[in-house]
Amino acid sequence: MEQIDKYLREHDIKPSLQRIAIMEYLQSHKTHPTADEIFNALYPSIPTLSKTTVYNTLKIFVEHNAALCLTIDDKTAHFDGDTSFHAHFFCLGCGCIYDIPIADISNVLKTEIDDLTITETHIYYKGYCKKCLEEKLKKQKEIN
Ligand SMILES: [Zn+2]
Ligand SMILES: [Zn+2]
Repeated sequence: MEQIDKYLREHDIKPSLQRIAIMEYLQSHKTHPTADEIFNALYPSIPTLSKTTVYNTLKIFVEHNAALCLTIDDKTAHFDGDTSFHAHFFCLGCGCIYDIPIADISNVLKTEIDDLTITETHIYYKGYCKKCLEEKLKKQKEIN
């Protein structure tokens, strides 16, 4: 809790109780939750919380580089409390998002390419997780 408070201050975010709760949830759940998932998880313990507050808080986090907004899922935005550079894998079957570490980022993280200035870099992989692939193959076998 104290650490989260410090983390938010370091990113020029005033640490209200609700903001601390949302950041704490983000940093302790590496599942890349959506705003709705965060709201549903926190609402029982913070009944004064509104969906609008969650959306606005996440927006502030992203604007202050305290969290990442992932657009890997074209249906909804997902959020990540880990702002260190890493790639993401999105399963087209179950929608889960995994972190993929990148060993050598020196070639990836450029701030300039020719006369373009880069402010964001995302690496998104899409495919099927092991479980979904097995289910897919099973279904295909049943059809044949
Ligand atoms: Zn899956
Ligand atoms: Zn991540």
